[in-house]
Amino acid sequence: MESEQVKNDPSFLPRSFYAGWGARKRRAIHWGCPIVLELMSFSSLPLGPQILQAVQEAGYTEPTPIQAAAIPPILAGNDLIGIAQTGTGKTAAFVLPILARMMAERPAKQCIQALVLAPTRELVAQIEENVRGYAKHLPLQMATVFGGVGEKPQIAALRAGVDMVVATPGRLLDLIQQRHADFSGLKYLVLDEADRMLDMGFLPQIRRIIKVLPKKRQTLLFSATLSREIEALTQEFQHNPRTVQIGRRSNPAETVTQLVYEVRSHLKPSLLAHLLQDPSYNTVLVFTRTKHGADRIARKLESCQIKTATLHSNRSQNQRLRALKDFKSGEVRVLVATDIAARGIDVDGISHVVNYDFPMHAEDYVHRIGRTGRAQAVGDAISFITPEDMGALRSLERFIGRGIVRKKAEGFDYEASAPAAPARPEQSTGRRSGEQSTPRPAQRTSQKPSQPRPESGEWSPRRPGNQVARRSRNGGGGGGGGRRR
Ligand code: AMP
Repeated sequence: MESEQVKNDPSFLPRSFYAGWGARKRRAIHWGCPIVLELMSFSSLPLGPQILQAVQEAGYTEPTPIQAAAIPPILAGNDLIGIAQTGTGKTAAFVLPILARMMAERPAKQCIQALVLAPTRELVAQIEENVRGYAKHLPLQMATVFGGVGEKPQIAALRAGVDMVVATPGRLLDLIQQRHADFSGLKYLVLDEADRMLDMGFLPQIRRIIKVLPKKRQTLLFSATLSREIEALTQEFQHNPRTVQIGRRSNPAETVTQLVYEVRSHLKPSLLAHLLQDPSYNTVLVFTRTKHGADRIARKLESCQIKTATLHSNRSQNQRLRALKDFKSGEVRVLVATDIAARGIDVDGISHVVNYDFPMHAEDYVHRIGRTGRAQAVGDAISFITPEDMGALRSLERFIGRGIVRKKAEGFDYEASAPAAPARPEQSTGRRSGEQSTPRPAQRTSQKPSQPRPESGEWSPRRPGNQVARRSRNGGGGGGGGRRR
């Protein structure tokens, strides 16, 4: 039974692979991915003592399934396609073996040996944080390159000499075109969250970047899904890649309790504030479809004395980093984010994910709720469902292969009108009784309450034609990052 399960898992490695690992048979439910493997310990992986020490200091006791499956073939020099959701430990799955290989084959002169491309600056910052942790005992330098901040520190970092660069494609291409980056010594390329990079229209930039890289290199591609487009990408950029796949995108973490609150649209702000009276909602990530929607909710919660930050593309890079830092430290209890800004954010111990606006695509739902229940922690994923969202909810239930429990908030008056704003001029402007009391700009009145349009320039899944706006935000404009050890 066990061996069958292992064999059926595409990440299956030959039994000989585990020989000598002091392997213990055990049932592992990792990151929503119930599989049975003979697990190994990190110390039996040939990563080198400094990396193993850093891994131990990070508190990792054993590799996650994607790490167990991906690290050995990467160490052996293979190209690799990794199909894994965020939250599976995929960053370490590629960073650890690349660092080990970089240390094993150090060039005579320092040069950029490794390049990681990722779709958003948040993800770049997160990968940087991981690399910094895993490489803390290694004499390696890294730089990050992303848009939305000044170019100069990034140029200075690249010129000073680094071993690894983590970048968004747009800004990196700008710097390459200005001849600030020399990739002639590159050996390792990672395309992280390749599916999102394609969705966001980064393919032309990626192609142009890859043109300046040496043909002989190891290319690793990570994606949450293996679509036809991703397969085409792997054929274009990879050589005889191995594929490892952990979990399915339609497989939300087992440790996440999923609940639906049916509520009329105008009551959503009050329902959120009501639920937040429960102190067990201590680290709450709220998803909205639009950035203005995120701002409105934040204002509403702040007016209820609930410390709230927002994360969306109208906020400056510093504001976004600050919001994440405050959320991670517990300084703010609620982070309200749009999908794209929250892409891949890694915050331990998120107690609740709230789909304030129900996502249009089932994959986005799975991705959103993957923010909680990470690393086997438990968490709740709550969705507000208006009558207009019912169709989307049913498709989601088909996608994940199960129904989601409907819940009623105790003590919440579902029939009530939303509280009227105290003595505000809007009260007399013809707003429907029960509409939310937070101030709203007049131009938004035409918007359907349950299906807010993404703001202009806001990236929307599968919406073509946003490439330019995206590029200028993620990679086109300013500069930032820097050289770090
Ligand atoms: P990622 O999928 O790379 O975003 O990683 C998700 C989270 O898992 C991060 O907080 C990592 O620090 C954590 N993590 C990665 N590898 C391990 C491991 N082997 N054991 C425990 N936690 C891990």
